[in-house]
Amino acid sequence: MTMDFIRNPLVVFVEVTRACLLSCRHCRANAIPKRDPRELKLNEMESLADDLLGFDTKPLIIITGGDPLMRNDILDIIDIFKDRDLRLAISFSGTALATEEKILEISKRVDSIAISIDGSNSEIHDNFRNVNGTFDTSMKIINYVKNKTNLQINTTLSKHNINDLENMYYLLKENGIRSWDIFFLVPTGRATDALSLDKDEIIYALNFIYDVHSRGDIRIKTTEAPFYNRKKLEGEKKLPVTRDSNGLGVTDGRGTLFISHIGDIYPTGFLPLKGGNVRDANVIDVYRNSEIFRKLKDPSLLKGKCGRCPYKSICGGSRSRAYALSGDYLDEDPACPYEV
Ligand code: SF4
Repeated sequence: MTMDFIRNPLVVFVEVTRACLLSCRHCRANAIPKRDPRELKLNEMESLADDLLGFDTKPLIIITGGDPLMRNDILDIIDIFKDRDLRLAISFSGTALATEEKILEISKRVDSIAISIDGSNSEIHDNFRNVNGTFDTSMKIINYVKNKTNLQINTTLSKHNINDLENMYYLLKENGIRSWDIFFLVPTGRATDALSLDKDEIIYALNFIYDVHSRGDIRIKTTEAPFYNRKKLEGEKKLPVTRDSNGLGVTDGRGTLFISHIGDIYPTGFLPLKGGNVRDANVIDVYRNSEIFRKLKDPSLLKGKCGRCPYKSICGGSRSRAYALSGDYLDEDPACPYEV
């Protein structure tokens, strides 16, 4: 079935908690040490999962946090989505809560596990994560689940590790990792603009990613860098762009949906503008009809450089970054390195 991002999201992020033992410098969620009593309960997760089945096509569910392991009912949450035959991925923070037993238990139930690696060694990674030992924990988790389930590495790219990109690639290769998602920092939550890459660094990163992608030895993709679609189409070897039956590429709120720990419905976790709350609104109605989601799905409303750009339907810029830096989510993406 072809997708239609106007009607259906490709991915739904479910932030099961905002609690986390770490306090990373780039944290979108401004994670807190303790759980919020207003978090969605299991029965509310069940209604949410039932509602999600009402979309024309089943989305991929990504369980995220905070650290999902801070919820002692995490296995029950996973089962709620699994019982409804929804494809499921989960991402961890890499703390002491990630015991081998727990991780293996979870890996049997989900389709894919995501672990963060933000540097090729503990110095770069731990410094970014603000806690010593997290690099070793991430590597430990990788070893627990390697060859047992699909494993994806998530990397936040910023000033702190742009020069380490190639080393990270070799680290992943050495560990037999086949899937890598590179997230281009959005200065929101605890991440400040001082960590943002400049245009030359972004071009370097896009070229690097394109080369790895062309070789195909690791499945590489980007998050919050929709302009990589332009690179894919302009490069010597044309690479496929994820787009729907209307020719639209995925960007914030166009193919993505985020449910916060207290049920607020956002386009993504990096664009905290509420379309509604699952406690009193239907998630399908919010995705299809709320003002924020309708506007995000209409490339003709884009402003500045993105508004003039011939690539706006397949790219459209990071709406989260536009919002974080200008306060206007329809403004141009300030990180776009391309001329229009
Ligand atoms: S100007 Fe905007 S739409 Fe065009 S490539 Fe850059 S980010 Fe994408």
